[in-house]
Formats: sequence, structure tokens, C-alpha cells
Amino acid sequence: MGFINIEKQYLKERKPVERVNDWNEYKIPLAESEAKDQAARCMDCGIPYCQIGTTINRGTTGCPIHNLIPEWNDLVYHGLWKEAYDRLAKTNNFPEFTSKACPAPCEGSCTAGLVNDPVSIKSIERAIIDRAFEEGWVVPKPPKRRTGKKVAVIGSGPAGLASADQLNKIGHEVTVFERSDRPGGLLMYGIPSMKIEKDVVDRRIRLLEEEGIIFKTSVDVGNTISVQSLKDEFDAVILCTGAGKHREVTIEGRELKGISPAMKYLIASNRNQLYGEALESDYDAKGKRVIVIGGGDTGEDCVATAIRQGCKSVVQFGKHGKLPAQRTEKNPWPEHPNVFSVDYAYEEAEEVLGKDPREYYVETEKFIGNTDGHVTELITGSFKKEQSDESAKKNWKADLVLIAIGFQGAEDSVFDDFEVTRDPSGRVIEADTYSYQTSQEGVFAAGDARRGASLIVWAIEEGRKAAAAVDLYLDKKLSLLHQ
Ligand SMILES: Cc1cc2nc3c(=O)[nH]c(=O)nc-3n(C[C@H](O)[C@H](O)[C@H](O)COP(=O)(O)OP(=O)(O)OC[C@H]3O[C@@H](n4cnc5c(N)ncnc54)[C@H](O)[C@@H]3O)c2cc1C
Ligand code: SF4
Repeated sequence: MGFINIEKQYLKERKPVERVNDWNEYKIPLAESEAKDQAARCMDCGIPYCQIGTTINRGTTGCPIHNLIPEWNDLVYHGLWKEAYDRLAKTNNFPEFTSKACPAPCEGSCTAGLVNDPVSIKSIERAIIDRAFEEGWVVPKPPKRRTGKKVAVIGSGPAGLASADQLNKIGHEVTVFERSDRPGGLLMYGIPSMKIEKDVVDRRIRLLEEEGIIFKTSVDVGNTISVQSLKDEFDAVILCTGAGKHREVTIEGRELKGISPAMKYLIASNRNQLYGEALESDYDAKGKRVIVIGGGDTGEDCVATAIRQGCKSVVQFGKHGKLPAQRTEKNPWPEHPNVFSVDYAYEEAEEVLGKDPREYYVETEKFIGNTDGHVTELITGSFKKEQSDESAKKNWKADLVLIAIGFQGAEDSVFDDFEVTRDPSGRVIEADTYSYQTSQEGVFAAGDARRGASLIVWAIEEGRKAAAAVDLYLDKKLSLLHQ
């Protein structure tokens, strides 16, 4: 009953005016005693909705990997940190990623949240995994025996890493092929280091390598290496290539200089920090008036990046209206609460540039450029039906425009090369959440490539489940050989 007497504590954050001067993480973990107090707020419910992990009304409800939350809360409360880590590691391959960047659907469905603030589940998860690394409990554990079966995982984001980890643990020989020069998928080259620092990703890759997983980077499957050679060499293949097909705007002036897809901008920024690679003008916001088209999380990361690069101003256009302050009747518990919040980038914009950058219902209609062919202005209207007349038209000055209106699923080429059947929207229909197998025998799909752009925690869940499906497939194949 601690939730009655103890207030929820949110993770402290570094001051926005300070943190925008570097690229380090902006959150400050809980101290041990604070984590214990927060764990005491858990009611150890008979039916813990926090761990159900399902989809209601197209939103995630509860933890998709079914973390054993009340169990580790109780262990933390009793100071049994090693036991808490063991319980956490049972369901989550990479708590160091989720505890930093997960939107915590577990907290949205916490029962305490019905009458009070929910338990600080994500912060407690963070305290457990930080402690486990500090104490040296996270060590490589290579499998004791090998099965002789070989699996190729294509793509090294959280889905690929989770499936590789699961299959390697039970003794299969796993090779991960990655097109980029460094493993990690969006953890490495998409999500800014303010949310997940890159040495945290490198640390996990090293552990996986020490456990026996082989990483082959700068290998573009279908180009650098043929699909046939993979089929010949491996007993099964899992496609974890992400949902990298960028959604574009098709309006007048799109060809102008100074207009870029958000992902190219974020990748260039990550590479600039990692390797000191010079920023091309279209990826450098210094001194510029920046407009981000798209009101989602990728757009938010662009706002935070532009502020750190020293932009003059930043505005973010959203298609939808401002969210309500409280849950509405249409969004009851245990659904994830769709409520207004001021996340890290918006807090920074308010404090550093004096204004929340979000503008609602904005529809970009036209880009205007100068005689050099560079964007200078945008003309917008309104997505709101009742404001679709001329009075809603507005002009915005801009030197840099970033397009962050989402993704259209997996890139086609590798799925075409494997001759995998998809539906008109690009989804791999046959690979359901039981078999994960595509229309091609022995070829599986998981993560954003299968379900569309989603979350780290769903990618881990998909990687784990696909690994179980592959193991079953290999086992059956083995049995058939012995008949
Ligand atoms: C800017 C941004 C911020 C985000 N922030 C968050 C967040 O805060 N919290 C959260 O939970 N989620 C966040 N997400 C979503 C999350 O990153 C993804 O859902 C997750 O990374 C998907 O994992 P994945 O393994 O399926 O694919 P990815 O992480 O996309 O990895 C796919 C990998 O496959 C490789 N690949 C593709 N084709 C080939 C090929 N032919 N050969 C070899 N390799 C190939 C790619 O190079 C890539 O490395 C964010 C996404 C973006 C874009
Ligand atoms: S992985 Fe995400 S949903 Fe699951 S317990 Fe951690 S923060 Fe909550």
C-alpha cells in the first residue's frame, strides 16, 4: 500500500540549458534508496495489468515482453538486487535500452494509476540494470554445447539482436549481417545519444560477441552477398531489416535544397558525433530557422538535435490536435494514456528558445525557394475541416526543413530477393505472431520489418518469439532427417 503514503518520483533530468550543450543522456537515474521507496508503491496485484503486453484500440497496453514487474519490484523493496536482476533478465534481453527509451506502456496500465500516480516501473527497471552492470553481474555466458545448426540474422537492431541472443543461448550458431558499418540498427544510427548513449549499445554488442555471435558489418544482403549463398550456408534466415521505407511529401517545391528526410538528418548527426564526420549543409541546423514536418517522436528527436546544433528557431508541424490533459472516456485505463506531455525536446525548446515548438493541424501545401534553388519559405493550410478556407493559410520562413512523417514499412529489395509474399501495404502476411515464417520455408521475419514501425520493446518481443519459432523449425527439420 506504499502508493498511498509515498509519492511517485519521476526520474530527475539535467537542466535543459545545460544539457543542450552536449549529446549526453539527459536523465538522472534514481538513487538506491529512492528506487526501494518507489518499489514499495507496487501493490503486487493478483492480475498485474502492467505485464499483460497486448494491443487495445491500436495502442500498446502493458509490457510487451511481459516483464515480471511486481516480482522485481518486491525484490528491490527487500534489497535483493541480484535476484531482481535475474528475474528481469528472464524476460528482457536488453533492459539497458528499454529502461532508457521505452515509453513505458506498463505504467499506463498499472492498477495504482486508477486512483493515484502509477508505479515508476521504468525507473526501477533502470536501477536494476544499472546496478547489475556496476556489480559485474552481466557477464558473457556462452552456451555449453553447440547444435551444429546455423542461423543468419539480417539486421542488427533490437529485433535482430534479441533473436540472435536467444538462438545463440540454446547453442545454434548465429551470424548477424548488418548493412551499416556498426551494429545496433536504430539504437546506433537513429535514436539520439541523449536518449541512448552509443557506448551502451557497443557494450551489449561486445557481450554478444563474447558469447559467440558473429557480426558481419557493411554487408548489404542482396548486394554485397547473395541471397542464394545465405540459403546454401544457413539452415534458417530471419529478416530483421526494420521499417526503413521513408514516407515522403509530394508537394510543389519538394526538390529544393535544404529539405531532407529526418532519418538522413539524424544519421548524419549521429555520425558527426561518433566519427567527427563533417555535416553537410542540409544536415546542419546551426544559425538556421528549422521546420520539422511531422508531430511524432522522430520529429521530436529532430527538434532536440537542431537545438544542440545551435538552430536559430525551430517549429514542429503536427497533423493532429493537441492531446487532452487527462484521459478521455474513449481512452480508459488500462489503455496507454493519450495525454498531453512536455517531453525532453519540448522542454528544451521552451527554456532555450522561449517557445514550445509544436503547432497543431498544420498541412504543408507548398515550398518556396530563392534563385539558388534553396528553400526559404513554406505555405501551410489546416488539416481541420472547419478551417480549410484561405484564412487558414500561413507563411513560414525556413532555412532547413526536415520531413518526419513516418515510415512505410520494410524496404522491398531484401524481401523481393527472398521472394517473400507481402500484402499491398508491404506487410509480410504469412509471418504471423505464432510462426513468424514468411511464404518461404526457413525464412522468418521479425521486428519493424514484420509489424511496421514500432518500439524497441516490441522489436525485442518479436525477436524472442521468432527465435523460438526458428528453434522449433530447426528441431522439426532435425527430426525429419532422422526418420
Ligand atoms: C528517430 C527514432 C527514434 C526512436 N525512438 C524510440 C524510442 O525512444 N523508444 C522506442 O521504444 N522506440 C523508438 N524508436 C523505434 C525503434 O527504434 C524501432 O522500433 C526499433 O529499432 C526496431 O527494431 P528492428 O530491429 O526491427 O529494426 P531497426 O532498428 O530498424 O534495425 C534494422 C537494421 O537492419 C539493417 N538492414 C536493413 N536492410 C539490410 C540488408 N539488406 N542487409 C543487411 N542489413 C540490413 C539496417 O541497416 C538496420 O541496422 C525510434 C525510431 C526512430 C526512427
Ligand atoms: S520494457 Fe517498457 S513496458 Fe516493459 S517494463 Fe520496461 S518500461 Fe515497462
